[in-house]
Amino acid sequence: MSDIIQLLPDHVANQIAAGEVVQRPSSVVKELLENAIDAGAVHIKLVVKEAGKTLIQVIDNGIGMSVTDARLSFERHATSKIKSAEDLFQLSTKGFRGEALASIAAIAHVELKTRQDADEVATEIKIEGSEVISQEACVAPKGTAICVKNLFYNIPARRNFLKSNTVELRHIIDEFHRVAMVHSDIKFDMYHNGSEVFSLPASNHRQRIVHIFGGKTNEKLVPVTEETDLVSIKGFVGKPEYAKRTRGEQFFFVNNRFIKSAYLNHAVSSAFEGLLHQKAHPSYFIYLSVDPKSIDINIHPTKTEIKFDDEHALYAMLRSTIKHSLGQFNVAPVLDFNR
Ligand code: ADP
Ligand code: MG
Repeated sequence: MSDIIQLLPDHVANQIAAGEVVQRPSSVVKELLENAIDAGAVHIKLVVKEAGKTLIQVIDNGIGMSVTDARLSFERHATSKIKSAEDLFQLSTKGFRGEALASIAAIAHVELKTRQDADEVATEIKIEGSEVISQEACVAPKGTAICVKNLFYNIPARRNFLKSNTVELRHIIDEFHRVAMVHSDIKFDMYHNGSEVFSLPASNHRQRIVHIFGGKTNEKLVPVTEETDLVSIKGFVGKPEYAKRTRGEQFFFVNNRFIKSAYLNHAVSSAFEGLLHQKAHPSYFIYLSVDPKSIDINIHPTKTEIKFDDEHALYAMLRSTIKHSLGQFNVAPVLDFNR
């Protein structure tokens, strides 16, 4: 009899994890933007080249990292955001798995520059395929700048699987929108191949949506709000007459995280019953806040799926709130015959 089981070396484990966390350049964009937000940045700049295939850079003015943390941040399961399993049920950060940087560094050339406010010198680390190439002191502003070059350079199959720059850029812009729509109080800039794509000043949810989707959006929006023990619902639905045949602007955010839910989508559609042409899809921008204990986000590494304790109650609440908002908005003009 012979033993045949071995523990995988870290760089192999990281590369396997990367397969789940990083599907395409936009996955890297999402993870890096989320880290910048978790670091408390109020200005975040995203720079991409060739739809992220050659360069993805995120520069933030958040809390930065110490010398030791800068190095540790690339280890798998290294996180400052949770300490115990119980913390999973009271998450206030986007990250918690401690997997993103380790995964990204396993499949790209990564350069990190970071400085905490109290430190005089910054740290610069270069990593390729999980291997630290250099670590030295440098000069840098407070915050973190992380550069991801040549994604999937060591996984040709993945690299070849990437779509055209147009398609990959679309995915990046979608991720950028989702993050920017929640964090309307943060200033965001985005550049692609040297040109500015977006420059979004700090504002509120409504203004942010209008900045992203264009000035005409403002007149299409019907506000939706409701506050119960179960959930706080805020946001906007598009007026029925602006509904489109394509599913375009449909966004759910739960506790500041973009999520996909066919079930809740159905709740919204059914609130529009009788108000839409057949085959038309309503647009909506719905921000839900629930007790973190009543949801489970740890279903998939990309965290776009979520499990609610009481999905049925949420469905009913969402449907009736939107119906009510549309009703209030669509009240027929009252004719006053006494004048
Ligand atoms: P997670 O976000 O799940 O904790 P990551 O691999 O994305 O895992 O990041 C690991 C750790 O590195 C974070 O917990 C955080 O402490 C630190 N970190 C990453 N990005 C930044 C940043 N932009 N600013 C400050 N700290 C960061
Ligand atoms: Mg993270």
